[in-house]
Amino acid sequence: MREHYRYRYQAREVLTRQKVAKGDVLLSSLPFVYLVNASSKGLYCDHCLKKNSTHQNLQRCSGCKVECYCSKECQRGSWDIHRFECKNLQRIYPLIPPDTAKLIAKVILRLKTGGDQFEERITEKRSRKFKDLMNHYTDLKDDVKRQEHLTSLVVVLRKYLGTNNLPNEVELQGIFGRVCVNSFSITDTDMNTVGTGVYLAASIFDHSCEPNAYVTFDGKHLLCRSLVDWPSLDWNKVRISYIDVMNTTTDRLEELHNRYYFWCDCSACHNPERDKFMSSINCGNTACTAPIFIDENDDDDTPIGACSACGFNDLSLDKRTKYCKIANYCREQLEVMKEKYYLDLCQRVIEKQGDLFHKLNILRVRFLDAGFEAAIALHNWDIAIQYGTQNIEGLKFYYGEDHPNIGLVLLKLGKICSHIYRLQDAVHYLAQAEKILLISHGKSHPLYKEELKPLIEQANEELKIFTHRKKWTNSNFAVNFRTTCG
Ligand SMILES: [Zn+2]
Ligand SMILES: [Zn+2]
Ligand SMILES: [Zn+2]
Ligand SMILES: [Zn+2]
Repeated sequence: MREHYRYRYQAREVLTRQKVAKGDVLLSSLPFVYLVNASSKGLYCDHCLKKNSTHQNLQRCSGCKVECYCSKECQRGSWDIHRFECKNLQRIYPLIPPDTAKLIAKVILRLKTGGDQFEERITEKRSRKFKDLMNHYTDLKDDVKRQEHLTSLVVVLRKYLGTNNLPNEVELQGIFGRVCVNSFSITDTDMNTVGTGVYLAASIFDHSCEPNAYVTFDGKHLLCRSLVDWPSLDWNKVRISYIDVMNTTTDRLEELHNRYYFWCDCSACHNPERDKFMSSINCGNTACTAPIFIDENDDDDTPIGACSACGFNDLSLDKRTKYCKIANYCREQLEVMKEKYYLDLCQRVIEKQGDLFHKLNILRVRFLDAGFEAAIALHNWDIAIQYGTQNIEGLKFYYGEDHPNIGLVLLKLGKICSHIYRLQDAVHYLAQAEKILLISHGKSHPLYKEELKPLIEQANEELKIFTHRKKWTNSNFAVNFRTTCG
């Protein structure tokens, strides 16, 4: 409770201000309910969501042996809700409820223990209770997949909480709908998804594929910062992104509608020019960098037409067929990499795309991005640097110039260059990363405080020593040279 009180105080302080600068905190929020996802269980503390250090194991709850904590304080902090969970987990052992069932059970338990009256403040005049969250009742009722999911969840919840402790069907639909539509994926500093949480205040933000605000997490604490300057902040125009926006408009619209039941109406979704870049090849004139749009729905023998930038008219008819074939192959390979990125696969695809695919083609950008991550995982630094640097322009095109995703790529490039003693490059990339991440994450975020800042200091220091040593070696060489010659 104390933490919530602290949040209210902070929120009031920040939000009464009208003028907001890039990087200012718009909202700070603590979860109403949250959990560490099953895939990350044991790697993060179930209370504070801090990563388990390699030296020290998390302590398991002696009752259920399921929940893990980094300290006694964290175990005590969790007890409000966990005392109810703990005995239920023991009763159904060795069965462990799936994440969504656990999260819904947490909501039910919180609502029963005073959570229905809890409100998280957004501005001085605005606050939200759990019941204020959108539940999309009708959409959910018509959603066959989600109804099937709910039916299977009810079976688990009956076992886990006991039939008598479940709310009635309408209430359960409402809880399920609110959890589906309002949950945030909680990420760690490396942007790995580690948990899921429902944040009452932060759920007021609408979506845009060109967001002007960004959400980060420090443990379970959510912070939303502005990515733009506001002469006068308008809360109704603050937008975050619910999905990865590096996708075609059709795919984005579909994903948003299937998951959140709305049709996106943002400027990016009304920009057909943007989509043309996504499916483009290089101009036949090698001196020209303009993209040539290929509509995959056109017939094979439709001429590509003259380049709008240089006027070059490519008459080679097989280019369209070749492009469509490779594009299909790329999409098949993306399916293969749904769970994990494979470097050899990325290399094969990038080679196939060759000089044909334009650098802003979405399939090019996606594979360079996947290849970059896969190369890092395999410590293949040369390929990682090659793919990472080649892709900056493409990523900026899709995410926007100063999007934190670009900052994260630059940070990784800086880290690699520092590791292999390309110190000048390291200093350069890290400085660029700092410019972006200070806006999205801020000085107090562990990504900046514990990772980027020490890296910058180290790279600068090493570069200084290196330059000094080089000077010293050069002048020594000059002295020796003179003595020998003299
Ligand atoms: Zn902890
Ligand atoms: Zn327990
Ligand atoms: Zn949109
Ligand atoms: Zn051209």
